[in-house]
Amino acid sequence: MKLVDRVSIFFLATLAVVLLGISVAVYLIVRDQLYDRFDEQLQAAFHTLVAAIEVETDDVKWEPSDHTVTLGRVNEPDEARWVVVDEAGQIMDRSGNLGDTPSDRQLLELALKPATAIDQKIEMPPWRVMRQTLAAVEPKAPELRDPLERERLTVTAAMSTERVETALTRLAIWLSILSPATWLLTAICGRWIVRRALAPLTRMTTEVRQLGPVDSGKRLPVRESRDELAELAISFNDLLDRLFDAFDRQRRFAGDAAHQLRTPLTVLLGETDVALRKPRTAEEYARTLEVLRGQIVQLNEIVESLLLLARPEPELSAVDFDDVELRSWLEEYLLQWKTHPRRRDLSLEPSGKVSARISQTLLAQVLDNLISNAFKYSEPGSPVLVTLVDRGQQVAISVADRGMGISRAEQRDIFQAFYRSQNARQSGQPGVGLGLTIVARLVEALGGKIACESEPGRGTTFRVELPKAR
Ligand code: ADP
Repeated sequence: MKLVDRVSIFFLATLAVVLLGISVAVYLIVRDQLYDRFDEQLQAAFHTLVAAIEVETDDVKWEPSDHTVTLGRVNEPDEARWVVVDEAGQIMDRSGNLGDTPSDRQLLELALKPATAIDQKIEMPPWRVMRQTLAAVEPKAPELRDPLERERLTVTAAMSTERVETALTRLAIWLSILSPATWLLTAICGRWIVRRALAPLTRMTTEVRQLGPVDSGKRLPVRESRDELAELAISFNDLLDRLFDAFDRQRRFAGDAAHQLRTPLTVLLGETDVALRKPRTAEEYARTLEVLRGQIVQLNEIVESLLLLARPEPELSAVDFDDVELRSWLEEYLLQWKTHPRRRDLSLEPSGKVSARISQTLLAQVLDNLISNAFKYSEPGSPVLVTLVDRGQQVAISVADRGMGISRAEQRDIFQAFYRSQNARQSGQPGVGLGLTIVARLVEALGGKIACESEPGRGTTFRVELPKAR
């Protein structure tokens, strides 16, 4: 479902609930108010009627003229209807508006029935009825009474709820028209507003669809309003910049890798072709195989390096880490160089004991690369010094040589894949420029940092800083 539809549906469903709630609340409040006023009116009329009865100990007297009971006299249909009946079921008086309709007759019938209680409130749609019986405590004998004196009088007053009900029905009709109409109007306008508000998102989607895998320099337009959509566009553009940059580096890397693989392969092919051109002596074949082996070793090194660089960071960091005392570890590690032609040039500077949290495999690979570079790029007989320094939170291991050095401008690039300095290339030393790239990756996986200090013609020091053991 589209976002426009989802937002619209949510918004309209909420509105429907709100409108329904408001309508029901309005209806109930108005109904309460109308019935309150209705009851007040009926009660006022009823009390006026009851007040018109004079209650003595021995008789009760209906005296409307003394108490100016004008209710219902002028036939007003909305006023209370009432009947005063004596103990014999004789109508003493009645309101003029009590007509001859079936409901009026029904009310009259009720009024003529003897009251079952002194005070009664009766619901007899459409009537709301109030009845009260007033009686003499010690009634005198009927023959001693005046014509207007009675033993007991029952007042019945009622008002029709028809007017209230009609008003309420009208209100209900209005509410049930107005609420859906409001809802419909909002649905039409709301959908248009939501569509307009989300239009930049739709535009962004179209723009994104047009983006290809090659950086055309095309980016998402950023709205001036600087709202959430503008922020999204900025973030997305940043991501695109980083991705295209990464793509670019990846492509160059693949190109460089292919280039580096091509050289040994060309030599392999050339040597094989030359060897196959005519029959050779066993020595000649052996020499060719020797050359081929050298190239295969180089190919193997490149492929191994590429495989290592292709390994994702978490996989590298997943190797076992231990707290290792580095002085002893370095002494032991350096033993593996004891068969190297320049073993006498390599030395470990005396230091105190210090531990770091390392992966021994990764650190050994780092030092292998740094020491073999130091040998490669310095004259035989010149010293290569390994130093261990405690730097508070960190431990630094340095590999320093007194070789050709690296110019300041080139120091920035030496960690890039396939980069080789001018001097290195001219020196004729073999290499593909992946060693330091791997070292940088490994040091990162070790949680450390690497730095290079060098002066052309004087020597180079690579310093690896590692976090100390906890
Ligand atoms: P490679 O040694 O195969 O060329 P590396 O990645 O190990 O590749 O090194 C990259 C470049 O950095 C080298 O080509 C060289 O120019 C420079 N370099 C590395 N170590 C040293 C060093 N100890 N002295 C001088 N230059 C060095």
